[in-house]
Amino acid sequence: MTAVTADKARLPAVPGAWLGVLGGGQLGRMFCQAAQALGYRVAVLDPDESSPAGMVADRHVQAAYDDPQALDVLASLCVAVTTEFENVPADSLRRLALHCRTTPAGDAVAVAQDRVAEKAYLQASGVPVAPHAAVQQVADLRDCADALFPGILKTARLGYDGKGQVRVANRAQALQAFADLGGVACVLEALQPLDYEISVVVVRGLDGRTVSYPPSRNAHQNGILALSVVDGSVPAAVAEQARRHALRVVDHLDYHGVLCVEFFVLQDGSVMANEMAPRPHNSGHYTQDGCLVSQFEQQARVMAGLPLGLTETLCPTAMLNVLGDLWFDAQGQLCEPNWAGVLAVPGTRLHLYVKSQARPGRKMGHINIVGSTSPELLKRVARVRSVLGLPNAG
Ligand code: ATP
Ligand code: MG
Repeated sequence: MTAVTADKARLPAVPGAWLGVLGGGQLGRMFCQAAQALGYRVAVLDPDESSPAGMVADRHVQAAYDDPQALDVLASLCVAVTTEFENVPADSLRRLALHCRTTPAGDAVAVAQDRVAEKAYLQASGVPVAPHAAVQQVADLRDCADALFPGILKTARLGYDGKGQVRVANRAQALQAFADLGGVACVLEALQPLDYEISVVVVRGLDGRTVSYPPSRNAHQNGILALSVVDGSVPAAVAEQARRHALRVVDHLDYHGVLCVEFFVLQDGSVMANEMAPRPHNSGHYTQDGCLVSQFEQQARVMAGLPLGLTETLCPTAMLNVLGDLWFDAQGQLCEPNWAGVLAVPGTRLHLYVKSQARPGRKMGHINIVGSTSPELLKRVARVRSVLGLPNAG
């Protein structure tokens, strides 16, 4: 293989050119759809023969993420390649980068793969994080500060949707939790007095220009994002702090692409970063219907070297996650959720990922809901939830 050719490095890539994505999940699927709407062809590399993204891609390279031949196929076909999840081997991105534009860079993704490196990076960028300690071995837990209790012990790698983390009231519980987690590298974080949680999706182009979306206010259930609301209810000072922190993160990394930073807003109004995702994010799905240009289209625009799009919301918007639980009735029998009832609520759009099997806790789709005012939006959210049989308390 030759190094990046002049043709491939040319900006912008014209529609009709190929863009590639590592990973075939729902984020890859929505990226494909957005890139195709702009006129690009998309190749997906994923080992699963019926992955959500593979099904809509113009080409599915069915192979492991670290398969050198498959990576070379992708690199020779595509003008640019991206990733849809942070646990793709960083070395695969580094290999792709030898031959085609790769956004984000493997080094940037590697930072987000490890909570210890991520927290160190955030702090070095001037972004506050919760007090914490890296835990490699039992002695680290014996020696850490008392102030870290009560806390949360989180595996340093591969955690998502609240998996791989245990709340611990004291040192003895932390030692037990560390053993239960298999003694793998962890981080112990002091439990923070959260008022609420927000996240900011930020986009940085190849030329270093940045745009950021308004923060979404996020509610979780059982460790999984349930609802994101963007209705102007985050105080301007909080939104501005979060926006500045998110921009600092991408500038300091010299990042190219879409990145999301999750924040805690504490009871005193201060803002602290929780973690970052080097890709479009579940809490940014509202941008598909609440903004002129979605986070997925921005991802394609960055790859193609096109100008970034507007990020302000067109109206108050919410995103309700659709989990596999909805496919089971009270008796545990499979049943199709009442989509017609959902779509009968004005201002709703349904996005399903066409996963082969519904399982409790599995992200199967989401519903974007818009309203002309915040009260109208929240009323519609409540109606959708009640159609789906979801409790309306949270
Ligand atoms: P996801 O993949 O959904 O983002 P995750 O598994 O990566 O989740 P975190 O984002 O670290 O895990 O934590 C999940 C949730 O647990 C947070 O959104 C927050 O509600 C709560 N949480 C995590 N860390 C803390 C903390 N230090 N103090 C208080 N609450 C916390
Ligand atoms: Mg999180």
